[in-house]
Amino acid sequence: MAECIFCRIAAGDIPAQIVRRTPDVVAFRDLNPQAPIHVLVIPVQHHAAARDARGPEGEQLLGRLVSVAAEVASELGLDPPGYRIVTNTGRDGGQSVEHLHLHLLGGRALGWPPG
Ligand code: 5GP
Ligand code: ZN
Repeated sequence: MAECIFCRIAAGDIPAQIVRRTPDVVAFRDLNPQAPIHVLVIPVQHHAAARDARGPEGEQLLGRLVSVAAEVASELGLDPPGYRIVTNTGRDGGQSVEHLHLHLLGGRALGWPPG
């Protein structure tokens, strides 16, 4: 989608600090980090949110995103001590970009429950 900012990052049209690029998944640093390490993991193909990742294809997609997030977490030295993977969905979930993404957060002790 030409107007989607994360599609444009995946396409390389908008610069980002890429930490992992594969044919189907891209991971890059969040512009406004909420922890010392804050990486976004996105599918190259546009999906709006987790609600669109249902059924067998959705399972494969989400599994792939979590797998890449876990690999990046290890590469960035987060495992140990640990990290959080979260995806915000819809208004009450706090989603501001309508392209499915996992937040990988770490580098400090994270509070729970989130705000
Ligand atoms: P959400 O609020 O949808 O869960 O997360 C969207 C995230 O994308 C936010 O943490 C925000 O800081 C980040 N973000 C928004 N625009 C850009 C951008 O152009 N570049 C990067 N690297 N991150 C962005
Ligand atoms: Zn998109």
